[in-house]
Amino acid sequence: MSDVENPHVEDEQEFSESEAYSYLSAQEQELLVQLTEITAEHEARITALEDSVDEDKIPRDWISRHQNPDDWEELAVWVDWLNDNYSMPDEMRVPACWPAHPGLVHVLAGLRSSWRNSVLADMASKERQNAMAAFHDYHLFPFFARMQQKQMFRCNANGHKEDVRHAPTDRAYFPEYLFAPLDEPEPEEETPVTQ
Ligand SMILES: [Zn+2]
Repeated sequence: MSDVENPHVEDEQEFSESEAYSYLSAQEQELLVQLTEITAEHEARITALEDSVDEDKIPRDWISRHQNPDDWEELAVWVDWLNDNYSMPDEMRVPACWPAHPGLVHVLAGLRSSWRNSVLADMASKERQNAMAAFHDYHLFPFFARMQQKQMFRCNANGHKEDVRHAPTDRAYFPEYLFAPLDEPEPEEETPVTQ
């Protein structure tokens, strides 16, 4: 008798699952199946996205990440806004030729990120935090001070000077042991000879 009953016990769970949705029409059940498939597909997509996020962990500078004119235009609008709004003396203004100087592009892109985060923090806190004050003290005014150091940024309203090109790293100065031949006899091999 128990042999007969056992299959029923196993079926019971399966039956109860389908019974749970028995109040649904055939069409609704079909939709439920489709929904399950869509959910599975979305999960696969999320996994793929998570994998691509891991790829983003490879550091790439602003210039490498922004290879279309619109991105540069957006930064140019912000730089012009900065020059117009802060009305600094000429020697502290960002020179018009900034896009020709990669170092300055990186600095400006970083400064704008910092500005953006500070503005958003300020808005979120209904101006009860010091995000903008901190931006001015820790980022913007030190930046203006650096612009004055002509040994760093030599261009101004009077003209553009190309960045000085330096020789690349001389690989001849790499430590010699890096290039030790791999087929050098191992000490272990010499031991049997002495015995
Ligand atoms: Zn220049």
